[in-house]
Amino acid sequence: QGCMGISVSSTPGAEQRERQQRAQAGFGGWHSGISSTHTYVYADEAKCDQHMETFLRCIDASGGSSENGFSAIKMTALGRPQFLVRLSEVLVKWRRFFYQLAAEQGQAGQPALGIKLELEKLQEALANLGIATKEESQQWFTGEKLGMSGTVDLLDWNRLIDSRTKLSKLLVVPNMQTRQLEALLLRFTEEEDLQMHRVLQRLDVLAKRATEKGVRLMVDAEQSYFQPAISRLTLETQRRFNGHQAIIFNTYQCYLKEAYDNVTVDVELSRREGWHFGTKLVRGAYMEQERERAARIGYEDPINPTYEKTNEMYHRCLDYILEEIRHNRKASVMVATHNEDTVKFTLRRMMELGIHPSEKKVCFGQLLGMCDQITFPLGE
Ligand SMILES: Cc1cc2nc3c(=O)[nH]c(=O)nc-3n(C[C@H](O)[C@H](O)[C@H](O)COP(=O)(O)OP(=O)(O)OC[C@H]3O[C@@H](n4cnc5c(N)ncnc54)[C@H](O)[C@@H]3O)c2cc1C
Repeated sequence: QGCMGISVSSTPGAEQRERQQRAQAGFGGWHSGISSTHTYVYADEAKCDQHMETFLRCIDASGGSSENGFSAIKMTALGRPQFLVRLSEVLVKWRRFFYQLAAEQGQAGQPALGIKLELEKLQEALANLGIATKEESQQWFTGEKLGMSGTVDLLDWNRLIDSRTKLSKLLVVPNMQTRQLEALLLRFTEEEDLQMHRVLQRLDVLAKRATEKGVRLMVDAEQSYFQPAISRLTLETQRRFNGHQAIIFNTYQCYLKEAYDNVTVDVELSRREGWHFGTKLVRGAYMEQERERAARIGYEDPINPTYEKTNEMYHRCLDYILEEIRHNRKASVMVATHNEDTVKFTLRRMMELGIHPSEKKVCFGQLLGMCDQITFPLGE
């Protein structure tokens, strides 16, 4: 499978402009140290439409050449990267706030799925922080199953930000340094709202075509300052299109310390909502860039401290998904790696769990020509 390196270029003038914008926004090192991944440069919305047309042609080609084909897309080609950065910030802040509330309830350091906030205490905390009165927060946690158990978990919490409908509503979180409330979306302009809707619309067009052609559409994972938004928008598309089969695949990067939490939370969401979980699992392509940026800006390195930890993380995430396939045939995974141990690990676990290759729930991806000694035996 040649999954990366779909080459789309834009005009030199536009490229220069956007590079300047990025430098000002502190996105330095965009191209540094990356030889295998293609980076899109935002010019304008018309260019994003052109990229979408290119992706449509890729889907058509994939659908025309094989049954159950794959096509890979990059979300930074479909919208303004600055918008993805802003949405990512909002999502990260919102999740951090949840962890902070969990710590206040004595649940610091628990795996994401294990945290259950007691509703009463949560409402009290929100009232004390001046975020919502008890009556107001009562409204947040009624309806569907939210809070019916008397507790609120990360999935319930995430549902409070629904990027399709409620994104422009003002949500506030306290800044723990200043103890002041900050609007999460303070400077989310009408234009940014529109930008988000246009990305979702383009994703919808691609997902519809992929469904018609029977092509599985993999959304690549990119740098960690885009990734929460990319993952969230992909998840919304999965909700809409993965009802009967896994058409849309979200990518998880196992070099991230938070990879296991991300995988388990999203699998649990797919279980609760009844759609098919589709994923491409990778180690991650932007390690140097991530570390350099974290050191320069002064936040915690998001990458596992060692290669061995990344390997452990990969196998842990993979095992979780394979177990999910065993228990509930509604998950699919592409093991996207050139690592022989991981390929052998996958084959062994598939045997142990009784997952047969003909079910096509597990597939393998290598970059074209980069690892033929693995690709050819696997193909046979
Ligand atoms: C089909 C396919 C699709 C892909 N799609 C994406 C994608 O959407 N997004 C993306 O980011 N990447 C993607 N990649 C690239 C992938 O993330 C890896 O960079 C690449 O495949 C090398 O990892 P590996 O598992 O093949 O090999 P290995 O050689 O076993 O692993 C190398 C990787 O291990 C990690 N690593 C190395 N040293 C350390 C360390 N000291 N600490 C922590 N981690 C370390 C790094 O991620 C490094 O790239 C894709 C790869 C393939 C084959």
